[in-house]
Amino acid sequence: MIRLEGVGKTYDDGTVAVHELDLEVARGEIACLVGPSGCGKSTTLKMINRLIEPTTGRIMLDGADVTGSDPVKLRRGIGYVIQQVGLFPHQTILTNVMTVPLLYGESRSTAKARALELMETVGLETSYADRYPHQLSGGQRQRVGVARALAANPPVLLMDEPFGAVDPVVRARLQDEFLRLQRELDKTVVLVTHDIDEAVRMGDRVAVFETGGRLAQYATPAELLGRPADDFVADFVGSTKGLRRLTVTQLDEAHLEPMDGVTAGQLGAAIDIDSTLEEALAVLLRDDKPMVGVKRGAAFVGVLTPNGIHRALRASLAETAATAGDRDVAMP
Ligand code: ADP
Ligand code: MG
Repeated sequence: MIRLEGVGKTYDDGTVAVHELDLEVARGEIACLVGPSGCGKSTTLKMINRLIEPTTGRIMLDGADVTGSDPVKLRRGIGYVIQQVGLFPHQTILTNVMTVPLLYGESRSTAKARALELMETVGLETSYADRYPHQLSGGQRQRVGVARALAANPPVLLMDEPFGAVDPVVRARLQDEFLRLQRELDKTVVLVTHDIDEAVRMGDRVAVFETGGRLAQYATPAELLGRPADDFVADFVGSTKGLRRLTVTQLDEAHLEPMDGVTAGQLGAAIDIDSTLEEALAVLLRDDKPMVGVKRGAAFVGVLTPNGIHRALRASLAETAATAGDRDVAMP
């Protein structure tokens, strides 16, 4: 859906913000761009919707070269959530969200109906419609930013640190909500973050940038954690940290124990075999039970205990050690 070929940006003052970047994002996937501050993430995002013109290379969108196309038309197909949310402070929430459909020529009544629908989509009560941005919490403002970006129903969504300005608890909730929403919306998303945990959690693929806009690695979260391309990536993703590993490791039947003799009182809420170890651990901790039932479809396939999680994590890390050669992989 999105393909960058040798895309680079050197600013007028000589700063090389992005260096000959090749990157592909498949339709319906979330690609996260992550790296230290100033490594060219925002510049890359703004080149995709041509708020910034690349100095080299070309950008293909859905098979068409958009490098020379009309930027205003281009942006209709691309939702954009900007860093720091960027709501109009003197306009109500409703007007903020309506801006985009109005811009594209919808009638006021259609734009209003669409805006109210979008507020619900992102989990904002419509009673907030007449409030102003400063009357909302940081998390609510970020939801408005997402609603506005979705307003033209674009196939592509660019998000620049969309959950950056909120505390970790709210951020985790917004991340979950967005992932749930994305399962229905099926957009092609490029999400910029400086937070590797967010990247690993949200991304189908993660691009790790080095200073100077060089792409150090572009891979799935599991590959990134398991087989970092070099020491920079290994350092950045902290691949030896087992906790992060939990978020990308799938449950495996091999680590379950049989259901026989287990009483209902010993079990927390059931989880699906497709869950990650992190999700399993979260349920164990939340329900404060010694084990959790694991289902495939409607049928129980066994129970998972903390010991099972430990074994699964150890197996996952051992697999990494085998493929990563001499890179040291320690248990947490
Ligand atoms: P990130 O989003 O990863 O923090 P940016 O893409 O904003 O990084 O910036 C990349 C580099 O380009 C930085 O060194 C930044 O200072 C520089 N930069 C950004 N915008 C401009 C500009 N308009 N003129 C000159 N340099 C810029
Ligand atoms: Mg930035």
